[in-house]
Amino acid sequence: MTPDTVPSRLTLRFDNTYVRQLPDFYVTGLPDPVAAPRLLYFNTTLARCLGIDPATLDDASLAAVFCGNALPPGAEPVAQVYAGHQFGHFSPRLGDGRALLLGELIDREGQRYDLSFKGSGRTPYSRNGDGKAAVGPMLREVLLGEAMQALGIPTTRALAVVATGQPVYRDRVLPGAILTRVAASHIRVGTFEYFAARGEADQVKRLADYTMARHDPAVLTATQPYLEWFRVVTRRQARLMAQWMTHGFIHGVMNTDNMSIAGETIDYGPCAFMEAYHPDTVFSSIDERGRYAYRNQPRIALWNLSRWAETLLPLLATDRATAIERATGVLDTFPVVYEQDWLAAMCGKLGLVDATEPDDRSLVEDWLTLLETQQVDFTLAFRRLAAVLRGQPQPLLELFQDQAALQAWLVRWQERGNRSTTPAQRRIEAMNAVNPWLIPRNHQVEAALTAASEAADLEPFRRLLAALAQPYQENAMYADYADPAPDGYTARYRTFCGT
Ligand code: AMP
Ligand code: MG
Repeated sequence: MTPDTVPSRLTLRFDNTYVRQLPDFYVTGLPDPVAAPRLLYFNTTLARCLGIDPATLDDASLAAVFCGNALPPGAEPVAQVYAGHQFGHFSPRLGDGRALLLGELIDREGQRYDLSFKGSGRTPYSRNGDGKAAVGPMLREVLLGEAMQALGIPTTRALAVVATGQPVYRDRVLPGAILTRVAASHIRVGTFEYFAARGEADQVKRLADYTMARHDPAVLTATQPYLEWFRVVTRRQARLMAQWMTHGFIHGVMNTDNMSIAGETIDYGPCAFMEAYHPDTVFSSIDERGRYAYRNQPRIALWNLSRWAETLLPLLATDRATAIERATGVLDTFPVVYEQDWLAAMCGKLGLVDATEPDDRSLVEDWLTLLETQQVDFTLAFRRLAAVLRGQPQPLLELFQDQAALQAWLVRWQERGNRSTTPAQRRIEAMNAVNPWLIPRNHQVEAALTAASEAADLEPFRRLLAALAQPYQENAMYADYADPAPDGYTARYRTFCGT
């Protein structure tokens, strides 16, 4: 069945460069028809940025469009091909098994975005999968992605979620859904790996030229454009890792097919935010060895970039030895950039807003050791530290068992602060602008998703989403969301991907 086309009221200005310029990089396909589409979520702010006027369509029409029953004019759905290293092992062919790229839109600022479906049915890349997605995980992607956006961390975003009214079979029967995702692009390390593994160096070059021009046109005029591009992308990933780490974000499945060249956080499967600080934290049920544990994330990002570098070698120099030397030189900058960004962000979180002092690093490290040994909530500890400057140490002290150890650290921290030329009030404001009061806490996320999925009650989801839009703003109305999970919850908490 061919999907109906949509009411001409919805005019999207598609400009599908990927489909036009990279004909060997996808297969065309159509979304499965949906029996009873129902709009669960629509991001009107994001829609407006993309030139979609939500007022032109009612919920039923939006549901018809964003489930694929009524494709907007100009959409050219394709499943993109890619490979990937999954938990360290190479899969030569993955591809969009349950996703379809609809096309590209240009937002009000001139930035190009992919619009794509997730859960729209089988494709030639589905392998044994059903091509479907369930309501819970798709709404999870909305919550986590919008939380990341509000925290200022580069991310793909959800534009819409439509319930299909059809069952999805997992370990139990779940209600089905389709998510519409907006991303700077869906070009991954794994996209390069697919062609490199087949020995198709010309295709790797074509993809590099396309991706470079799309995301980093400034490098085109460099004397060595590919090398400069590799440097830029490496820096961007290092910065992203510093942001994940300083916010306690754990992605959970950092396979190379889940690493975007555009530097956005992508693929919200088993990700979760850390509660009590421990560097070994891992939530994903399939990550038995902790490969993607919190502390490993920067190292894994570098590992993924090394796999990417291998695909680019023929572009970096004509002889392999020189190419390897150049790639290594860039990869070696990763830890340096990461460390700088991480330390600067951590100092900011502690309110050390003036030029760094040599002892600042040990002040940060000793603070983290305190949090770790006393299993203190990562988010609240930073947030409540600012109140100490207002003469309100009690909320912070309550988080710690061994208050003497904390007091000793606070003395050092205050001495350091006293040397600051920035007034205390300014430092408090600076701390509150970088230390969120709210993160998506796992027990709250699960409660909202259970209500939506099992009782078709979207109220908890909507309320949590509204709260997460203002993570730095203390708001008595949402005080319940600021509390850590009940005792024992986090220790047992497991996330699942591919669901
Ligand atoms: P992910 O874990 O979501 O990054 O997916 C890894 C690979 O498995 C990608 O190629 C996906 O398209 C594919 N995949 C995940 N879930 C499904 C599904 N239900 N049906 C078909 N393919 C899937
Ligand atoms: Mg993926």
